[in-house]
Order: sequence, then structure tokens, then C-alpha cells
Amino acid sequence: MTFEALGLHTSILKALTEAGYTAPTPVQQQAVPAAISGRDLMVSSQTGSGKTAAFMLPSLHKFAVAAEQQQPVSNGSGGRTPNQEAQSARSRGERPRFRPAQPKMLVLTPTRELALQVTTATDKYGVFMRRVKAVSILGGMPYPKQMQLLSRNPEILVATPGRLIDHMESGKIDFSQLQVLVLDEADRMLDMGFIDDIERIVAATPETRQTMLFSATLDGVVGSMAKRITRDPLVIQIASAATKHENIQQRVHFVDDLSHKNRLLDHLLRDVSMDQAVVFTATKRDADNIADRLNIAGFAAAALHGDMHQGARNRTLDGMRRGQVRVLVATDVAARGIDVPGITHVFNYDLPKFPEDYVHRIGRTGRAGRKGTAVSLVNHSEGMNVKRIERFTKQTIPVDVIEGYEPKKTASAPRKSSGWRPGDNRRNNTAKPGQRTFAKPGNGTGTGAGPRREGSGGGYNKGPHREGGNGGGYNKGSRFGDSNGGGNRRSYGDR
Ligand code: ADP
Ligand code: MG
Repeated sequence: MTFEALGLHTSILKALTEAGYTAPTPVQQQAVPAAISGRDLMVSSQTGSGKTAAFMLPSLHKFAVAAEQQQPVSNGSGGRTPNQEAQSARSRGERPRFRPAQPKMLVLTPTRELALQVTTATDKYGVFMRRVKAVSILGGMPYPKQMQLLSRNPEILVATPGRLIDHMESGKIDFSQLQVLVLDEADRMLDMGFIDDIERIVAATPETRQTMLFSATLDGVVGSMAKRITRDPLVIQIASAATKHENIQQRVHFVDDLSHKNRLLDHLLRDVSMDQAVVFTATKRDADNIADRLNIAGFAAAALHGDMHQGARNRTLDGMRRGQVRVLVATDVAARGIDVPGITHVFNYDLPKFPEDYVHRIGRTGRAGRKGTAVSLVNHSEGMNVKRIERFTKQTIPVDVIEGYEPKKTASAPRKSSGWRPGDNRRNNTAKPGQRTFAKPGNGTGTGAGPRREGSGGGYNKGPHREGGNGGGYNKGSRFGDSNGGGNRRSYGDR
């Protein structure tokens, strides 16, 4: 796939070559042709995936084509900018008549830094276009400077919502000519409390506009807003494979059998740093059974799966949102898209059948930039499944052992080919890149990966790994390729 194949204007292709871009990123491949055709877009894709160009290239393309077709600048000033008008008015000895800026494109961003980045990128992509100006309107920028920028009647405004509202209200900006509205990092704008400002800005733009919304997630509030402000949008969700979930501490505990798994789960659920948790099971029956068992054990638990009536599902989720349910025991299908900020922990009681489900599952915690913990309870026979997940997420998941809950099995062979690097996704990793920090068979020491948690004080992390070195236990406990004789093999009936 090339940029030429996306049908972009030659002036833009030249700029991209100059910028050193050789091929469009996945989000650009999907977004650019659709946006050129005029469609609204709802896009979720991780940071760094090239979203700026995904909305800016098709928009610049349309401006370039329109300019070529000699379309008059339809701002009612006979093609002159307000600045030129003001000058000629002054030269006639008149007081210049104020004309509001009439942008064709508006990009809303949550922060000043981001707005400036978008403006810089726009200048880069549009460097060979004759008349296209992008300016940033930001909080904290001197007012006269902004007035001067607006007086040049830029085609493209990049703005943070608050400051833009000020200018709208004082009549400095008129959106009647607006063709394209972009909400960049929409989820962050909502997190920052801009919802009312956004609604007001959107209401001031023409119904005929093209709307493109970009967000890390289309779950929850941001998704419903996206649906409200777009028309028949193309929904683009770039595979979450590369989603790093860096704010989520992931780990694996190996277990010998079901009873070991249940004891460990009970123990982990007593972590003092846990607020609410989701426990994922492979089957609906397990979801029900485990929820019952946890309730008897004194946890406020509830099941959530596809066999339940919608009313019951809603009640359970309400209970979760209100904090009455502390432990939700759910199947994949039922838990997709759940957005409850109090979920601090996700447990994979069973590993998901597909690696992408692992990413969806652990994404239930660490919402909106919070920290989260994702723990997988893994049978010795399931080592390959862990590796598949690691390959998919391009991350290694550290193995952890808790004193008193060590797996009994002894390893016949270490995990040679895993390229295992405990601590890879830890914030306070002290291991050098590539350093294998687990113990070699027989020496039982391991260098460990430094302190594991940032002062959570949870009871369960006081095991031997604290003192450095989780290697011994894990190596002794792993037995890959051992078929384990069934017993807790389960079907995936809920899919
Ligand atoms: P996002 O908004 O998704 O976080 P950006 O639009 O900020 O990502 O782009 C991230 C970086 O990737 C920027 O430095 C940008 O210049 C670069 N980039 C974007 N698209 C391409 C591409 N097709 N080829 C090479 N680099 C690109
Ligand atoms: Mg971006």
C-alpha cells in the first residue's frame, strides 16, 4: 500500500516524501480514502499510530482539489482576507470593519501541546500547497496574538475547547463555512470535562459538516457522543494487538489444579489494594458457580454472562457501577466494553481462547489512565497459550509466585524459547533489556526485577520475589508440554 494508491493530491505526496513517510500506517490506509469520499469517521487507535495524518491528509487533499478548481473563497469578502480588508479600510481613512474568521476545518484537541503538534504536522503536510493556513487557538496564549492569527482568516483552526468558546462568544469566529470537524483524542477531552464545551461548539457548526472523531477507545461515554455527532460513520478500530496497556501490571501465576487455582484466587481477591475486580471464566456455568462460591466466602460477587436476561445484566452492571458488587465473574461475551472506573483488578480464571480477548479483558481495568492489575491463573499445560498472548501483545508477562501458594510441580525443562524478560511491562523494572532475570535450572537464585509494586502494601506481594528473584519458584513449577491429564480442561461454550 502506498500513499499514491490512496489517491492523494500530488502536492501532498511530495510533502510526504519530503517528510520521509514511505507507506501509510494501518489507520491511514483505512481512514484516508473514506474521508476523501466524504464519510464521517469514528476511529479508535493507539497513540503513535499516525492519526494526525489520517484526518489531515484527506482534508488537505480536498482543499487542494478545490483550489485547483478555482473555487472562490466563499467568505463573502470577494476573496480578500479580513486583514487585507482592514488595511484597505485604513488606507481609506476608515475604521476597519471587523470580520469574523470563517475556517473550513476545525480540529479540537484536549491540550495546547497537542494542538501545536497538529498545527506543525499540518504545516508539514501542506508545505507545497499554495494557500492553506493552520493556526492554533489556545488557552494561555496572549489575546492580541490570537486576534492577529484569526484576522488572517485561516482555513484550518486547531483549538482547545475552552479558549475557542471565548472567541465564538465574542463573535470572532463564524463556523457557517465549516466543512470538516475533527475531535482528536476525544476520550481525553471528555476526561478533562470538556463535554459541554464540545457540545456547544458542535452545535455552532453546520449540519452538513464532515465529522471525524479519534479516540483511544470508543467505549462508554465517548462512544455515545461519537454516535450523536456523526452521521453514518465508518467505524475504524485498529487491532488492539499493539495496545501496550502500560498502566496495567500483568502477571501469571502457575497452578497445579483447580483447588490450587481456587485457593489462589481467594487469596488474591483479599489484596487490600483491590477495589473492584472482574474474574473471567471460559464458561457460563463456571461464572455462576464461582460467583456463588465467592459469595459464600464473603465476597460481594455477581455473575455476568450471555444466558442472563438483559434486565439482570443491567442490574448487575449497575451494582458494579455503584460499588455494591465487588467481584464480577464474567464470560468474554458479556464483559466486552464494560467501563467501570473502580475495576482495579482483572483475573483470568481461565485464559481466553483468542489472544485478542486477553487484550479486551485486561482493558477492563486501568480505565482512563488509572493503574490496573491483570493476573492470569495458568495451568502448567497452558504455557503455549501464554506465549501466544505474549506474541500478540508483543510483551512478556512476568511469572509470579506467592509464598504458601507455590505450584508443587517441578519443571522438567525450562522455557527455553520464550525470550522471557520478567519486568518488561513494569514501571520500576531494574533489569537490563534482554537480561534474563529468572533462575537457570538448578541454581535457584534469579536476579529478580526489583520491587514489584509501588507501595500497595498488598498482603500477597510479600512473597520471595520481594527480596529479588522469582525465578526459582517459577522454574520449579513449570512443566511445559506436560499434558496434565485433563481434569480442568474446559470447553468454551459461551463463544
Ligand atoms: P497519533 O496521533 O496516532 O498518536 P501521530 O499522528 O502523532 O500519531 O503520529 C505519530 C508519529 O508518526 C509522528 O511523528 C508522525 O510524524 C509519524 N508518522 C505518521 N504517519 C506516518 C507514516 N505513514 N510514515 C512514517 N511516519 C509517520
Ligand atoms: Mg494524535
